Amino acid sequence: SKPDAKPAAKPPVLPDVRHVIAVASGKGGVGKSTTTVNLALGLRALGLKVGILDADIYGPSLPTLLALHGKPRVDANRQLLPSEAHGIKAMSIGLLVDEETAMIWRGPMVMSAITQMLAEVNWGALDVLLIDMPPGTGDAQLAIAQGAPLRGAIIVSTPQDLALIDARRGITMFRKVDVPILGMVENMAHFICTDCGARHDIFGSGGAEAEAARLGVPYLGAVPLTMELRAASDRGRPVVAFEPDGVLGRVYQDIARNLV
Ligand code: ADP
Repeated sequence: SKPDAKPAAKPPVLPDVRHVIAVASGKGGVGKSTTTVNLALGLRALGLKVGILDADIYGPSLPTLLALHGKPRVDANRQLLPSEAHGIKAMSIGLLVDEETAMIWRGPMVMSAITQMLAEVNWGALDVLLIDMPPGTGDAQLAIAQGAPLRGAIIVSTPQDLALIDARRGITMFRKVDVPILGMVENMAHFICTDCGARHDIFGSGGAEAEAARLGVPYLGAVPLTMELRAASDRGRPVVAFEPDGVLGRVYQDIARNLV
């Protein structure tokens, strides 16, 4: 071959996925995975084909949230087939290796696992693939932000100031690698009392919305703190799958509408 011949072009990553969107948070425990799953179901309720890639290596919660069991199957082209629940396609590191193994992985192992889930899963045609990111802003997060063909990122935050400071770090990280911030979701924004129906702003109100405005990122909406959401997630029966047009279902559908 000619010495100046170009190397063969690599096949594009995820050619049949219209939009790849990262769901990120500055720290763990703010409800990133809960948001990812219910937002995916909200997008599906709008008629979109949706998948979730659980890249949260150190705490994969997708198998629990969607009650997924068993190892993924492999198709004729040796591609992994995603599991499916409530019409959502799903792949998680938690389905491929046991948690203790993943816990002791170093950066390069984490990256190769994530690269494999991006390149070697037969997602089929999807409108949206949500990537449930590992919490924080370290090397693994940066590598996914650079390596996945992201249309943008969503930042999940609680109204607490500390979480907001962490959220700002997340925003800065994505901006550094030119990934647009599609918006902020405020989780556990307020509490609606199951007994009396009263609304309690436990963490104060309006903090995340004001912060989003200050940072120049869209505010996608607020999700209340509810017993129902927590209990449904623990049982692997996500609220929006069963009551897409209930109060919480509409909250997530509104966030989905603000996104697409
Ligand atoms: P992360 O992915 O950020 O670590 P999770 O989605 O796993 O967070 O949520 C952490 C815990 O908080 C879980 O027990 C989950 O059920 C609960 N949770 C998340 N969002 C809410 C909410 N809006 N109301 C009640 N519980 C919630």
